[in-house]
Amino acid sequence: MTGSLSGSPAVAQSELSLVLSEFARTMLTDFPLQAILDALVQRIVGLLPVSGAGVTLIGEGDSPRYIAASDSRALRFERLQTTLGHGPCVVAHRTNAAVLVPDLGADEQFSAFGPHAVAAGLLAVFTFPLRHGEQRLGALDLYRDKVGPLNDADMVMAQTLADVAAAYLINAQAREQAEASVRRLHHLALHDALTGLPNRTLLQQRLARAAHTPSRGLTVVLFVDLDAFKTVNDTHGHRVGDDLLVAVARRLARLIRPGDTLARIAGDEFVLLYEDVSTNTDIDALAVRVESAFTAPFTLPRAELELTMTASIGIAHAGADSELEDSLIEEADLAMYEAKRLGGGAHRRADLRDTSFPGTRPRRERELRTALREGALQLVYQLIVACADRTIVGVEALLRWDHPTHGPLSPTGLIELAEQSTLIIDLGEWVLGQACTDHGRWLDTHPDTRLSLSVNVSARQLVAPDYVGSVARVLHRTAMDPTRLILEITENVFLEDSEHVSTVLHDLTALGVRLALDDFGTGFSCLSYLQRLPLSLIKIDQAFTTSIDDTSSGVVIIAAVTDLAHTLGLQVIVEGIETAHHHNEVTTLGCDYAQGYLYSRPTTAAAITTLLATR
Ligand code: C2E
Ligand code: MG
Ligand code: MG
Repeated sequence: MTGSLSGSPAVAQSELSLVLSEFARTMLTDFPLQAILDALVQRIVGLLPVSGAGVTLIGEGDSPRYIAASDSRALRFERLQTTLGHGPCVVAHRTNAAVLVPDLGADEQFSAFGPHAVAAGLLAVFTFPLRHGEQRLGALDLYRDKVGPLNDADMVMAQTLADVAAAYLINAQAREQAEASVRRLHHLALHDALTGLPNRTLLQQRLARAAHTPSRGLTVVLFVDLDAFKTVNDTHGHRVGDDLLVAVARRLARLIRPGDTLARIAGDEFVLLYEDVSTNTDIDALAVRVESAFTAPFTLPRAELELTMTASIGIAHAGADSELEDSLIEEADLAMYEAKRLGGGAHRRADLRDTSFPGTRPRRERELRTALREGALQLVYQLIVACADRTIVGVEALLRWDHPTHGPLSPTGLIELAEQSTLIIDLGEWVLGQACTDHGRWLDTHPDTRLSLSVNVSARQLVAPDYVGSVARVLHRTAMDPTRLILEITENVFLEDSEHVSTVLHDLTALGVRLALDDFGTGFSCLSYLQRLPLSLIKIDQAFTTSIDDTSSGVVIIAAVTDLAHTLGLQVIVEGIETAHHHNEVTTLGCDYAQGYLYSRPTTAAAITTLLATR
């Protein structure tokens, strides 16, 4: 261990700046904490007249835990303090002040550590607390194999380096915690709690992945719905119903190979996704196997019951050469209904390969296109309020279609349908134009309102040619103030070409528009894009609000996401606030804004005008 000497103060100063800027850059990378601290202690030995350096993290209860050392001797001294639970680093940590021992041989304070260290050739030690605001994290130890003090300039530099290490530790800890909760959140958001099977969201991700993976075979979706499941629940109670669902899940799970997906997407609805089926005949074989899974009765030990069940099965598939359709699940669902209608209680199959099947996609798409052209679509608006005082800060535009025969239709299905073709582009442009026009009317009657306007944007829209141009034209035509507009994107956009998406998002913000990440936590939750992309807001999905009621995980997750968002300079909107309890919880957790039935149901533009007048 050879001690280096600091050169001229100017050289040392510029080297220090170099180390600091190196550090600042690694802060935002996923570089492992250990590697960075190892590099730091190495650099310190080059910068200061010391022979070794170590960083020790000290947790609750003062017991030191080694982190990094510049060489094997420094490591030995760090370990020595760790083993003894005593030494300069413990004192620096406890007193929050530097501990200077220029002559360890003459020192009496560290009676256990001192003699061991001196025997190993260590003659002086200087220890600086690692602190960040109120938090104390541990200490930076500087070791020297000769007696004598550090000069003032070196002392200042040492404390500066300790402060940098502390800031880095805080950042890395926050990142690790956030990553762990996002991983937890990911699992919760993608699986069904009862059976542990993938849920609808994960199923949709697998379908999307299948669409992006070249395959030689067919992609097949089997939609399985138990017949008369409600009767089981009504006669034997929900616990027996739950046991039955778990038993069905187990039996169906035997039918899939690695790479296939079995999901439970709602009460008694299971979906099997096979990604690489060779022939149409194989599809029939799959359906027969599912049917045969119901031949034997289900034994439910808790209720001492044996139940014989039947199921209706719907099938949809996409060929290797045809474009894989996101609507496969919906089509298999329709096919399943057809099976129920035909049989009810029997194992029947309806198949979309039968072209006479009613209600197929092209027809519905034509209807939607006509509705758009003829002005039969509407927008409704839902309030967004500030958590602190419930003042209205904005509204979100939501699409509605009052279908002439089916009644009001949910936008989720409509958007999925429109996304199958360029219809989404026209539809999206209409939504934006209509919403901006309505916003203009609110401003006409209430010029002092600061109301922001949130509009949902589909991933397909965003990657269409000249999307930014179309937004700019709508803003111009409707005289909308771009800084009042928030475009809500979902994590789905990250399935698209990421370079292109990133350019589009930056161009949108250049127009003055803000971006929100919608339904956070249900998609491909990946932390790095939160840093990379020009987002202003995160909307935490309502699934997490709902889980406030029955598990504590909802609270933990919302807290973690909120902290993470705030660390990254983003604001948080929580969705699905239905009760005063939800409101109080998310307000306590520091969420900025909230949206949900507690404050308002989605309502017409005219009703918003009235509301503004009464405020
Ligand atoms: P989103 O953007 O997350 O919108 C919030 C959805 O949650 C709305 O459903 C809203 O009615 C519902 N909601 C609000 N508060 C509560 C609550 O307290 N409890 C419960 N259970 N639900 C609540 P909606 O209107 O059915 O919209 C569903 C989704 O359809 C939207 O989710 C959005 O992703 C999409 N969407 C709606 N309009 C458009 C549009 O114009 N363009 C695009 N691309 N997507 C749209
Ligand atoms: Mg939204
Ligand atoms: Mg949402």
